[in-house]
Formats: sequence, C-alpha cells, structure tokens
Amino acid sequence: MTQRMHQYDARMVDLVFDYMRERLQYDPVPLDHPGDGERLAVALEGLLSAGGNDPAEVLKLYDHELSRAVISADSPRYLSFIPCAPTKAALLFDMVVSCASLQGISWLEAAGAIAAENQVLRLISDRAGLPDTAGGCFVSGGSAGNLSALVVARDTARHKRGLAPGARMRIAVSDQTHSSVTNTLHIIGVEKLLVPTTGHRLTGDALRAALAADGDPGSVIGVVGTAGTTNAGIVDDLAGLAEVAREFDLWFHVDGAYGGAGLFAPSVRAKYDGIEHADSFVVDPHKWLFAPFDCAALIYRKPWLAKGVHTQDASYLDVLHTGDNSEWNPTDYAYHLTRRARGLPLWFSLAVHGTDAYGEAIEAGIALARDTAALIRAEYPDLEVVHEPELSSLVYRRRGWAAADYYAWSQRLLADQTGFVTPTGWEGEVVSRFAFLHPGTTMAMVREILDTMV
Ligand SMILES: *Cc1c(COP(=O)(O)O)cnc(C)c1O
Repeated sequence: MTQRMHQYDARMVDLVFDYMRERLQYDPVPLDHPGDGERLAVALEGLLSAGGNDPAEVLKLYDHELSRAVISADSPRYLSFIPCAPTKAALLFDMVVSCASLQGISWLEAAGAIAAENQVLRLISDRAGLPDTAGGCFVSGGSAGNLSALVVARDTARHKRGLAPGARMRIAVSDQTHSSVTNTLHIIGVEKLLVPTTGHRLTGDALRAALAADGDPGSVIGVVGTAGTTNAGIVDDLAGLAEVAREFDLWFHVDGAYGGAGLFAPSVRAKYDGIEHADSFVVDPHKWLFAPFDCAALIYRKPWLAKGVHTQDASYLDVLHTGDNSEWNPTDYAYHLTRRARGLPLWFSLAVHGTDAYGEAIEAGIALARDTAALIRAEYPDLEVVHEPELSSLVYRRRGWAAADYYAWSQRLLADQTGFVTPTGWEGEVVSRFAFLHPGTTMAMVREILDTMV
C-alpha cells in the first residue's frame, strides 16, 4: 500500500494534466473572488482522513471551491499591487521542475540546473552593467533578496570597519523604500537613516545633505536605492547614490524587485544609469519578467563577500577566496539551504522566446500606463493623473471622491469581474492606481474600468 503513492497512476495523471491543459487555455483568465471563510471551512471539512479520497473528487473540490476563492494574479484585469503574468513556456517548465524534483542547492548535486540559472543571472548582470565576476542566486522573493543582501552589507561593514558587536549601524533609505527593507532592518538590528525625497525620488544630493547634517554619519554603512517604487514606479537617482556611496564607503543596494525588469526596456533604460555600481541588486522575475511564483534574482557585485556571510559553516577566511566560478553553490549566497531550482522556468522561457520578446512585452506595460494617462486627460474630466507614469504603474484620482468611495468602488469592480484595482495612498490622500504588466491587458479593458468611475 505505501508504494502505491509513488507509482504512476495513469488516471490521476490524466485528470491533473487535463486540468492544467484547460487552465493554460483560459483566455482571458477570469479574476475570481475573495474567499468566504465559512464556505471554505465547510468544503474542506473532514477531507484529510485516514483513508484518503478519490483524486477526481479532490480535484473537483479544488476547481469548484478553492481556486474560485483565489483572485487570479495572472488575469489581464488584475491591476492591483503587482500582478503576475507568466509566459506559457515558463509555466510549463515550472511543471518540469516539479516533476523532476529539481533542486538547486549545490554544484555537486545539481550542476546542470545551476549552470542554467547562472546563465540567466549573467544575462541580468550584463543588462545592469555589473562586472563579469558578479553572481548570486535565485531566492523566493524581493523580501528574501533584500534580507540576504543587507545581511551581507552589515557583516561586511562590521568586518571592514572592525566594529564591536552591538555597535550602532544604520542604512540610508527613503520613505518610499519598500516595507520589506524596513522589516529587514528590524531583523538584522540595523537602524534607518531616513532621507527625504524630492518628488518621491531619493537623490545623491539628499543623501549627502543628510549625512552632512547628521550627528553620527560614521554609523551609516549602506544605502538602499529603489529601481521602481512599488506605488508609482519611480527610479531613484542611482548614479548620484552610487557616487555618495563610494565617497562614504557605503554598501549600495538596489531594490529593483518590481522595476528592475525595466533594464530590458530601451524606452526607460536610461533611468537606471548608475545601477552598474551596485554592490547588490534584486529583481523579481515573478513580477515583471513573466516568471511564475516564486522567483527573485539576487546578484552581488562581489559574490565572495556573500559567500563568507551565508555559507552555513561560515568563516571569514572565505572572504579572501575569490571563488572558482565553475563550482557554484547557490545555497552560499542567501540565508537558505534547500532550494528549488526556481530560476529554470525563466531560463526556459528566455531560451525559447529570446530577449527581444521580453523587451517588447515589458514595453507593452509601459505603453499601457502612458496611454491610460493620455486617455484620462483626453476623455475623463472627472479623473486626474496624480503622477506622470514612469514605468508601468499609474496613480490617478477621481475628483471629489473620499477614501470610502474608492473602497466601495473597488469592491464593486471586483464583484462585477470588471477589474481588480485597489486604492493606494499618495501624500496622505487615498487615490487609485493601475499596475500594468500583463501584455493581455487592453485599452478596452481600461476604458471599461474608467467608465465605472464617472
Ligand atoms: C514587491 C517588492 C518587494 C518585495 O518582493 P516580494 O517578492 O514580494 O518579497 C520589495 N521591493 C519592492 C520595490 C517591491 O516592489
């Protein structure tokens, strides 16, 4: 009996493959609905029994009850937070990674998978202009990437500056820096130096001024630049930040979890100038590089520094070792050990489609934001663009609406399956925001949504 679980079951395979075939063909993917806890509890009641269930029944339960209580992040009408729009190639290869139990822990165990993941990291590093020695690994998300990188920033500073345990350390951020960086700083015991922004953008001049005005500038060991704020897609003055970082010997981390993909879009590439000086850089392929969850690329300028910190039997002697790139253990470059070869879906899709297709798909999101801003100006006098789109998100307001109006409207919009658009905050005001990136989103869909606001 125990072996039955591990035997090929043609009926179950057909059931699941048929379901996946159908899911892959949804066009467009329906948005679906928020869940009702009681209904879900009733549906799940008693399911995990000693004897198990017919897979057809379990799959039906998933299809009819569970999947409908998950809002589809890959729907072209999902325009909240940051959507997900994986390519079919990436989705299919994600199944291969699962079927083959592909892990990517060490070179000894998984050289083939790691070589392919590193090829993708190399491509991203090249787009950023990082040196040939740059490298890293794929982690579960931007949060995991920011944490792993800033631990290296902290320990490198501690080591280089000979800081005593418990010495005060700070990292410069802005009020637009992502919440995961705040969480990271709490976790690693590093304080914030909050630098004011100009037009929501962190600049080198502001950082220099903040350091000059500060009573304890020597405790500042790093700076986080955001390459695409989550709210409005604003790219910080990376070149200016890099210059100040060099002057004050600060670790320069660039959080491009959302916007880093813009490196592949010629129309906005210049906004990222200065990123080539980053000590560490994070971009989430599960956001705007069309990979499935959960996939973030974490790249270090000097990966041997990360290895010295994250190798689980760490010793600072490793810092001296510049590494032989032919043997690469991804586990040494973040706080994880066991890891799925989660970079491979992106690798397969990139290899199949080529980088031009990626550039075009990213440009499509940028065009949607620009075209929507133009449409609002031309045809919707009740609406107003709050911030000119920089990447693929657009913050706008409905004149005369209070917070409650936005929330009620957003719920109606989802209930009608017209769109998933949630309100956001902007300078203390509740406003609306589109996050475009699904190439299947059309201007007709956008009009349909805007029409519900007049
Ligand atoms: C989304 C985002 C993160 C967090 O990434 P996760 O993949 O959700 O962990 C960090 N920084 C920025 C700028 C983001 O947009």
